Amino acid sequence: MNQIAPVAALRSGGCGDAPILRERGQREVFCGLTGIIWLHRKIQDAFFLVVGSRTCAHLIQSAAGVMIFAEPRFATAIIDERDLAGLADANDELDRVVGRLIERRPDIKLLFLVGSCPSEVIKLDLSRAAQRLSRQMAPDVRVLSYSGSGIETTFTQGEDACLSSLVPELLAEAADAAPSLLVVGALADVVEAQLGRLFTAIGIQDVRFFPPRNSRDMPKIGPNTRMLLAQPFLAETGRLLEARGAQYLATPFPLGVEGTTAWLQAAATAFGVNQDHFDRAIAPARDRATGAVARHRAQLEGKSIFLFPDSQLEIPLARFLSRELGMKLVEVGTPYLHRQHLAAELDLLPEGTSLSEGQDVDLQLDRCRAAAPDLVVCGLGLANPLESEGMTTKWAIELVFTPIQGFDQAGDLAELFARPLVRRMKLAV
Ligand code: SF4
Repeated sequence: MNQIAPVAALRSGGCGDAPILRERGQREVFCGLTGIIWLHRKIQDAFFLVVGSRTCAHLIQSAAGVMIFAEPRFATAIIDERDLAGLADANDELDRVVGRLIERRPDIKLLFLVGSCPSEVIKLDLSRAAQRLSRQMAPDVRVLSYSGSGIETTFTQGEDACLSSLVPELLAEAADAAPSLLVVGALADVVEAQLGRLFTAIGIQDVRFFPPRNSRDMPKIGPNTRMLLAQPFLAETGRLLEARGAQYLATPFPLGVEGTTAWLQAAATAFGVNQDHFDRAIAPARDRATGAVARHRAQLEGKSIFLFPDSQLEIPLARFLSRELGMKLVEVGTPYLHRQHLAAELDLLPEGTSLSEGQDVDLQLDRCRAAAPDLVVCGLGLANPLESEGMTTKWAIELVFTPIQGFDQAGDLAELFARPLVRRMKLAV
């Protein structure tokens, strides 16, 4: 791998103040219901009940269809024509469905009522329904609500909305409690375990993950909580946690060798860890990751890439692809740009990178075709048409379903981008 300039050395350049093309036209992204696919695996005693239409049920089932579960912890309560026409009391029906569900599944300790486009159109107040049902089912089951509707949310914002609904449930930590570290954002269990081991090696003992695997293990929160975001799409969750006193640690996200090092370093600095000790503690994992990433550089170096707005991971990914793999960034789109949470990432992007926020899909497709990049990262709806035009694509959703954070995943992350190019080369032979 080429030498990476130290983070501090590049702070004066980058894209921190760069102009951004803002588009508010038609967009091609999944709705926030998609987050249920990874969230229901994370919080293992939770159940997600979508209050929606058959379309919502199909979306969830087909998105989850790539994985087989003996007993899924999500379902859809279908709003039918009688509800839509106001002929039935949707609240009564919802109470009946929830009652039957909890009776059949006593393992459920936390139930999310997830709003959808149809529930919003008929103005079904799910937060009041959740309060009512929570009172009825206390103390065995807590019922919360959030919206995954495509009217309000894109793809990964479903997780932000879900975690935001949990923040008011967190107990307050005493003001004189010892400092603790809160890692915010759903991570695959294997990644959580690896990061936990690294924090132990660094010397940070009290590390809590949010969301936890068990809803009864919710972390406490207070003024001595230091908060590291593991995902760049948690704007509202971060804001609510800060309002509860948590101290936000500004850093790039843990993608690639450089991002993971900076992310761990932010925690180490906040906890006063000795620099030599930190460097020694992360060296074995960091060296392994450096070697793993370098193996894919030959395939990716000098190749151009166009990222459509989809997962909100685009800016950290672009930083990784340009700085660790030598790719050329044609355009980096993101559904929403959170200036504060992405400030450290923007500073590390090459100066002059074309950034766009939101989407006007036809205009963006025109720009993509004109640039003819070697690789396009986009949603499923755009990938097949672009492939048929001869472009090489990578599904953005795969980057959310695959463990990609941390040192041990850095090589796999690089490979996710190398694979479509290798496949295209083989097809061309
Ligand atoms: S919530 Fe809206 S966008 Fe999402 S599947 Fe249901 S109808 Fe479609």
